[in-house]
Amino acid sequence: MTSADAPQLRPDTLAVHAGHTRSPFDEMAEPLYMTQGYVYPTAAEAEAAFAGEIDRYQYSRYANPTVTMFEQRLAAIEGAEDCFATATGMAAVFVSMASILRQGDRLVASRALFGTSITTFDEYFANWGIRVDYVDGHVNEDWERALAEPATAVYCESPTNPMQDVVDVPFVAARAKEAGALFIVDNVFATPLGQKPLELGADAVVYSATKHIDGQGRVLGGAVLGGKEYVDKVRQMVRTMGATMSPFNAWVLGKSLETLAVRVKAQAASALDLAGWLDAHPKVAVARYPLLPSHPQHERAKAQMTLGGTLVTIDIALPEGTDPHGPEAKAAAFRFLDALQVVAISNNLGDAKSIATHPATTTHRKIGPERRARVGMSDATIRLSIGLEDVEDLREDLARALDAI
Ligand SMILES: *Cc1c(COP(=O)(O)O)cnc(C)c1O
Repeated sequence: MTSADAPQLRPDTLAVHAGHTRSPFDEMAEPLYMTQGYVYPTAAEAEAAFAGEIDRYQYSRYANPTVTMFEQRLAAIEGAEDCFATATGMAAVFVSMASILRQGDRLVASRALFGTSITTFDEYFANWGIRVDYVDGHVNEDWERALAEPATAVYCESPTNPMQDVVDVPFVAARAKEAGALFIVDNVFATPLGQKPLELGADAVVYSATKHIDGQGRVLGGAVLGGKEYVDKVRQMVRTMGATMSPFNAWVLGKSLETLAVRVKAQAASALDLAGWLDAHPKVAVARYPLLPSHPQHERAKAQMTLGGTLVTIDIALPEGTDPHGPEAKAAAFRFLDALQVVAISNNLGDAKSIATHPATTTHRKIGPERRARVGMSDATIRLSIGLEDVEDLREDLARALDAI
């Protein structure tokens, strides 16, 4: 599949075949190379490998054939020149920036992010002398103002976790270029199927492969994708600091890429259906989903996303005068969560099993009430990750739980 006269294949075909190199045993499925090291036929070949004169496997912290299979397959689906796999999504987020930022550099990021990404920026990057400036990611004027000054890296999620704000990726890409910055997009919510940040002008994409790429709640993983020169910097740093992906996880995730499209398309169809139904439900104040016409950045979402994702974020309707950040809002959310019978209470997302999360007390607990309020998150906010169950069973479960509030 890699020779010069190979046919031009479409993403669904690449997802099944790309990166597969058969061993001398001609096995059908991708081999799992559980090995730490590799054997050299001669001492001279070991010397040549370490001198960088020949390209071969040396040690699985540097590279492993099963991990390479996963990297090549994901790069083919994403349409990226290069890909490097990491132990977790957070390792990918960290190294996507740590590999290019130096003391005194400036990082401009959207305010609405996965909670641990914010902790990384505020508790580590900031203490290492990197200036971190936050903007409201869905407001173009905010990016314009922040990127009138030079920066080294620009980072955002779109849609954001959990509030589903949609960032104008081509607009930010143009401003980042003017500011001399590398633009990195965390594409977890959109998935590789629903949005192609590199085609929209971004320089790099990061994934938590733990989410839709596994999609079945088993292993952790992450990946950084982009141009070869940049990904090589990421590769060098991870080889040194050690957060490489395990071959076993790469094997699971590589096989999962074969079914990514069918899973995500089915989950997104159910999510769109349920989002519309929830938005009209009297016990729901608002349902946020990028491809719902009521979404504040609906036109932008339609222009840059081909699928709306598998997540729906709702605010439970509260009686007049109730503080949405107070204990009654939290109690209403907990009554809803505890009444669910099919949808599980958990903090993961993208799984075949549907999941409900209360971000204020879990994933976004650490950032505190003020920063939650700043991005529109309240104690009545629930993030729903829609799985592969029959959509009518999910609708009945959600209806039952809403009635229990
Ligand atoms: C989960 C998640 C991460 C971190 O990934 P891990 O695999 O848990 O380390 C980063 N960004 C987003 C948007 C996520 O949902």
